[in-house]
Amino acid sequence: MARYTGSSCKLCRREGTKLFLKGARCNSDKCAFEKRPFIPGEHGTAKGFKKRLSDYGIHLREKQKVRRIYGVLESQFRKYFKMSAKKSGVTGENLLQFLERRLDNIVYRMGFAPSRKSARQIVRHGHILVNEHKVNIPSFLIKPDDEILIKEGSRQMPLIQEAMEAATEVENYEWFEVDKDNFKGKILSIPTREQIQLDIDERLIVEYYSK
Ligand code: SF4
Repeated sequence: MARYTGSSCKLCRREGTKLFLKGARCNSDKCAFEKRPFIPGEHGTAKGFKKRLSDYGIHLREKQKVRRIYGVLESQFRKYFKMSAKKSGVTGENLLQFLERRLDNIVYRMGFAPSRKSARQIVRHGHILVNEHKVNIPSFLIKPDDEILIKEGSRQMPLIQEAMEAATEVENYEWFEVDKDNFKGKILSIPTREQIQLDIDERLIVEYYSK
């Protein structure tokens, strides 16, 4: 499936905010957005973000921001929206829950990968077991009580080791637990909106697709 292969940092600059797509680099002084906080390309200026967006533009940008944070293609994102609209409850919250339930997101959230992009690679290469079965589909949706385990032969991979050493915030999540010593984690519940720590307005996305 076609996937964006360009610079992750350009996406942050395009959205006018840090999307934290590159792991430790995002919190260092090497962050491209910190150095050049304006839209890339010939029309980019330091004042670029102050330009007034149309109503459509505001909705579009919020949708693109979330899609880029989770690294999901438009077709798949739209599919999640349709599933969310059909499900009972609040559509925007349902949408974020589907995105959070993706296996690549969980591997990242649990601190087994430095970014969702790396997590996707780790899953695709077969390093992850879900309930003792190999799952190499990044979009696989986890559910409560699922157990995520790093395969024994993959535990010394530098990418995984470094991510686990750097991950200090995983204990803060209430909807899953991580057992670093045994390279595994368990899903306790589906996260509520309050537990999904993202500074976005999902209502704008619902309105975008409802127009
Ligand atoms: Fe975005 Fe991270 Fe690149 Fe900074 S380093 S621009 S936060 S992807």
